[in-house]
Amino acid sequence: MDGFIPKAKNARENRTALTPDSAEKLINLGLKLSAESGLGDKSGYPNSAYEEKGVSISLDDSGAGQADLVLGLDLPTPESIARLKPGSLFVGYLDPFFNLDLLKSFAAAKVSAISMEMIPRTTLAQKMDVLSSQMNLAGYYAVIKGAERLNKVLPMMMTPAGTLSPSRVFVIGVGVAGLQAIATAKRLGARVEAFDTRPVVEEQVKSLGAKFVKIDLGETGQTDQGYAKALTPEQIEMQRQGMAKICAQSDIVITTAKLFGRKAPTLLTKDMISGMKPGSVIVDLAAAGGGNVEGTVLNEEVVTDNGVIIVGNGSLEGEVPYHASQVYAANIAGLLEHFWDKESSSLNIDLEDEIMKGGLLTHKGEVIHPTFKEKLAEA
Ligand code: NAD
Repeated sequence: MDGFIPKAKNARENRTALTPDSAEKLINLGLKLSAESGLGDKSGYPNSAYEEKGVSISLDDSGAGQADLVLGLDLPTPESIARLKPGSLFVGYLDPFFNLDLLKSFAAAKVSAISMEMIPRTTLAQKMDVLSSQMNLAGYYAVIKGAERLNKVLPMMMTPAGTLSPSRVFVIGVGVAGLQAIATAKRLGARVEAFDTRPVVEEQVKSLGAKFVKIDLGETGQTDQGYAKALTPEQIEMQRQGMAKICAQSDIVITTAKLFGRKAPTLLTKDMISGMKPGSVIVDLAAAGGGNVEGTVLNEEVVTDNGVIIVGNGSLEGEVPYHASQVYAANIAGLLEHFWDKESSSLNIDLEDEIMKGGLLTHKGEVIHPTFKEKLAEA
């Protein structure tokens, strides 16, 4: 089976879909791998490191059209999908709720597509969980970014010239990214508070030594997958009122609140931001999904009239591309190893397997995933 890894085409993408170490694992399985020259240049993996592991490097991405398997990272274009070989498999990010047309392109090209974000987050599939591997790093980097933009230090410092009080960090949304943000801010010595609509999170926040902010919103809960349920407009308003005072006292606010498959909720309004201190920093980790903050501009930094900095970087994990690529590639290798069939030396697309059922969106010229089949029928 031949695999190809193109270089990411989005100029903002710093990561690579496969690292030399993960390539070696796949080659040991029996895959023959080629890649586009420079695929790891921005993340710290030179061509030579791939070649040493047995990957052949080609000057352009035309090899994708002959491969049985293509590993992607940034969103493919309809044109690049049309060039893929019928019957081949594409594995990568597809952000499918917001890119239904790409699924039509894959079906038309008769290419099977696995969306890494749709792999069920079960214990068995943990090693393939790109949402966790990437959001963990994004949560870490949100704190580093906030600290770098802040005009204060995070820890308390007792100096002969006086005591510097610790900075206050408020984390909104305590999933994978939020938990890592809390842990990182604590390690840097900040005073940390956090809020999430899922009450189960309170214990986790406390165990990291942070304070859980209590806001009574009535019935909130979570889906059976562990995701937050969308709040009613009245609940969102109550939440905003509950958070306004904390935001006003905070030096860094990190927002990570997301709703699976839907636009992120707007949790910080202009009004709330106008009550914040000049020089304070908001890092909107949900920027790429619509943002949690009124006034976020995707991939830009905005300074409000009252001097609050809003960071709208859409890929904070991409700021640490060496490690982000390492874990993304390990997730992909984990998936391919799981479905590798030694006898035929190829991947077994087992349509009865729960992981495959969750991730495989198109197959044999059709959109087969029930959620997206339904969405396309409605569209
Ligand atoms: P996410 O990225 O979908 O959302 C981030 C956080 O925002 C969540 O904690 C969510 O509750 C919160 N949120 C949503 N609306 C909010 C609002 N209005 N105000 C405040 N917070 C709000 O979440 P995630 O990081 O992907 O994690 C989702 C769930 O999946 C969690 O329960 C997590 O423990 C679980 N998970 C399970 C596994 C596994 O079992 N393998 C792996 C990773 C995550």
